[in-house]
Amino acid sequence: MGIAVSLDSLPALVLNADYRPLSYYPLSLWSWQDAIKAVFLERVNIVAEYDHEVASPSFSMKVPSVVCLKSYVKPSRYPAFTRFNVFLRDRFRCQYCASPDELTFDHVVPRCCGGATTWENVVAACSPCNLRKGSKLPAQARMFPLQRPFQPTVQDLHNNGRLFPPNHLHESWMDYLYWDSELEP
Ligand SMILES: [Zn+2]
Repeated sequence: MGIAVSLDSLPALVLNADYRPLSYYPLSLWSWQDAIKAVFLERVNIVAEYDHEVASPSFSMKVPSVVCLKSYVKPSRYPAFTRFNVFLRDRFRCQYCASPDELTFDHVVPRCCGGATTWENVVAACSPCNLRKGSKLPAQARMFPLQRPFQPTVQDLHNNGRLFPPNHLHESWMDYLYWDSELEP
């Protein structure tokens, strides 16, 4: 028997009908179960496969590593508001002292002062700066973000993403991930 591989570690990269990832931030990945279900529902074509097979008594198939939607979906211009994407926008640097260590999130206008959890009010902050600022307003703490927090576009994150390529990219995905130049204006 071969080496046991957890099927959980075999996600499929999901491409739009134009063979670009359906989403970059986060990268569009489906579990192998969802990918195989979509194949049987004829919503996707298989573009590439892992070596590993799933088998039942009546059938077996290789696990898809890249699938492509049959109908084009208009991609979102704006990335999801996620922890990773806030860090990526801020280039994994504290927005007060530029340290890359012990990163947390800071509400520029604290929640207790009505500050919202939004792109415009949340920045990456190292743990010491976050503690120092506490629940004070920037003017009270005399701490101002290096850049005014903003809603990034996918393009903005692409520009930073090249500096921080994600881990765990399967080799069969590489042809479809245009980290370098494809989306340059
Ligand atoms: Zn800091």
